[in-house]
Amino acid sequence: MNKTELEFLLDKYNLTPNKIRGQNFLISDEVLDKIISAEQISKSDLVLEIGPGLGALTSRLVKEARQVVAFEVDKNFKKPLDKLSALAGNLEIFWQDILSLSTRQLADILEKHKSKQYKVVANIPYYLTAKFIQKFIQNKYQPETMVLMLQKEVAERIVSKDKKESKLSLSLAFYAQSRIASLVGKENFYPSPKVDSAIIVIEKIKAWSYEADEKLTWQLIQRGFASKRKKLINNLLSDPKLNKEKLTAVFLEIGLDLNIRAEKLSVDNWLILAKKIG
Ligand code: SAM
Repeated sequence: MNKTELEFLLDKYNLTPNKIRGQNFLISDEVLDKIISAEQISKSDLVLEIGPGLGALTSRLVKEARQVVAFEVDKNFKKPLDKLSALAGNLEIFWQDILSLSTRQLADILEKHKSKQYKVVANIPYYLTAKFIQKFIQNKYQPETMVLMLQKEVAERIVSKDKKESKLSLSLAFYAQSRIASLVGKENFYPSPKVDSAIIVIEKIKAWSYEADEKLTWQLIQRGFASKRKKLINNLLSDPKLNKEKLTAVFLEIGLDLNIRAEKLSVDNWLILAKKIG
């Protein structure tokens, strides 16, 4: 879809891009090609698309995949997407916020489409990124791969080896591998956003496979990041089961600086800490 085609559709359906919902539509066939090839879709695949909008990517996905299941929060796109669904025959649309997708609903979708696996593709608003990725990557039913259009800086931070950790970067490191497939300039969107983007591939997604308890490790991480300005020890003290003496002893035993902040801990540091505290 190019800019003229997009403007035609916006006009035809009397739509205005909604800034709050992050509606910056792709207007480059070349970028759509890159997303499709990064996802390596085959005719046996079940693909979940989040935020189909006017269907630029969706109309490509229905040609490449066996079945596409799309989630769109904005019912203003009902006419164009219902039309596409009727034409394609392999597109199911749920009109809901993707963050409200439950594990049960996901299981039902997999069962309905007789698939144990699925792939995720999304050009979603940037403010959804962290919650969205964690929702899928830490799910009981994890996708095989995720191909996402993200803000360039966020994508670069996620794949960088030398970085400050966040709950999102830890989540990706525990359960998957991530890489940037391509950088995408802001001129490829309409309306053009303020920043450039990148296509990120999250692959080799796997279940928790570490000795440390998964739930306990995440409880520690949640507490550890609760207040960014506080030292890790002080954040962890919000757990009534922990006290300063115990934490100091554990930190010294595993060689962690007593003044360290959560963002400085590696994946391995968290796993050791969880094992020692648990
Ligand atoms: N896929 C289209 C494209 O590439 O041109 C549209 C992408 S646009 C950046 C983001 C889309 O996500 C919009 O259609 C918007 O309505 C939808 N969206 C925003 N928040 C959402 C949410 N929480 N759940 C599902 N869709 C959402």
